[in-house]
Amino acid sequence: MDNLKLQQLDKKYDVITFDNDAVEYSHTQGYQNFRENLKAQFPKEKETIEAYCKKMQEVCETFPLYNLDGKTDGYDKENLRLKISDYLDSLTNNYTLKVVLAGSNFLYAGKENTPLYVHALSVNSFIKSAWRCVDGGSQISRQLIKKIKKFGGEVYKHQEVVKFNFDKNDEIESVITKEGKVVKGDLFISNIEPKRTIEMLEGKGIRKAYANRIDKVESMISGFSIHIVFKPQTFKYINYNYYHFKDPKRVWNAQDYTDSSWPEAYLVSMGVRKNQDEWAENLTAMTYMRYDEVAEWEDTFNTVAQTSDRGASYEDFKNQKTEQFLVELEKKFPNIRDCIKSIYTASPLSYRDYIGSNEGAMYGYVKDADNPMMSFLSPKTKSNKLFFTGQSVNMHGILGVTISGVLTCSHIIGKEKLLDAINNSLIE
Ligand SMILES: Cc1cc2nc3c(=O)[nH]c(=O)nc-3n(C[C@H](O)[C@H](O)[C@H](O)COP(=O)(O)OP(=O)(O)OC[C@H]3O[C@@H](n4cnc5c(N)ncnc54)[C@H](O)[C@@H]3O)c2cc1C
Repeated sequence: MDNLKLQQLDKKYDVITFDNDAVEYSHTQGYQNFRENLKAQFPKEKETIEAYCKKMQEVCETFPLYNLDGKTDGYDKENLRLKISDYLDSLTNNYTLKVVLAGSNFLYAGKENTPLYVHALSVNSFIKSAWRCVDGGSQISRQLIKKIKKFGGEVYKHQEVVKFNFDKNDEIESVITKEGKVVKGDLFISNIEPKRTIEMLEGKGIRKAYANRIDKVESMISGFSIHIVFKPQTFKYINYNYYHFKDPKRVWNAQDYTDSSWPEAYLVSMGVRKNQDEWAENLTAMTYMRYDEVAEWEDTFNTVAQTSDRGASYEDFKNQKTEQFLVELEKKFPNIRDCIKSIYTASPLSYRDYIGSNEGAMYGYVKDADNPMMSFLSPKTKSNKLFFTGQSVNMHGILGVTISGVLTCSHIIGKEKLLDAINNSLIE
């Protein structure tokens, strides 16, 4: 953390907007600010806002490993089964307040059946404080790699694991990469999508029932993003994020768009530079996109490390979607087109090829309040040598995968020992 270069967002870190409503509703950092700001926007809803803030903190406090104190052992079944949409309905009849509270649900691809805890874990960390990575998020990987190397580890870049090798007792011995590199190990921890890992196991090292269960878990929706590079000194830097919905009534259904209604909702964020001045260098706008829209080109593969052309029809598709998206963005930023130097896009195929996720799922597996335990996977497998970690185990996001990491390691070295070690290092 000490070496990460971060910039805090403005006190107002998220702005929620809707077509045909000139008001820019906002979320502000710090629970006290958050409450006061919302109360000013919704003066008749003071009690609702108090109750909401209390509930968000309570849900996070009781989520296992959230506070690294080892006190909260099991999941609070009631909170897992409670849908965020039902919770907000029970809180107030003020529709606008409900959609403003739900407004940043792109962070977790929220739908009507999304559990309350997913919403709470996502918004709580932003309310506490909200930041951007200066010069991009890849510094997180660079810092992790430095630490791994410092402790004697080795890191191989651009090496896709394609197969496990087993010994005569069917125990995992090594993995083999696409380029033929064999990596032996005592333990193997996989943070790629469990479905992909299981495919590579070819029926070994994992219970059939567990494999079947994972096979049935539904993947989340994918996304389409446009990354705009601006001509110098043309577009002002904005130190907060925009979440926009065409229709506030569709706050939980923006993923069920049609060709003509797309994009029903989007997020706009900006990259911050080291010596950021008043001018923006780039802007990223993201929205939902279902994989079936790009299934026609699913046999292609294209990343910076392994380039290939997906063909002219794919380029036409992306250009048409970019144009449709820009028309929406122009409603919010009328001069944006004049400021564009270049545009890059990412489709569900880009997400699939870079992340390796099923159908380009943005955040792993669907979390469903009607079937909550389906989306909690045990990091342990039948093999003592194989563990899972990452967003599919527990929760997505930097925070979620950190919790997953602690959970996985606690199965390997013991929870108490691990938590003591982490907490002692934090004190030092
Ligand atoms: C567009 C987008 C924006 C996001 N923004 C944020 C944000 O602002 N804040 C936040 O907290 N979260 C954000 N998230 C979510 C967050 O990025 C993920 O939840 C998190 O990175 C998941 O971590 P992971 O370790 O499970 O998997 P990943 O970070 O996806 O890592 C898996 C890695 O495994 C590699 N891999 C795949 N298959 C193989 C193979 N066979 N062999 C070897 N390597 C393989 C992949 O290339 C990848 O590098 C965002 C997600 C998306 C898609």
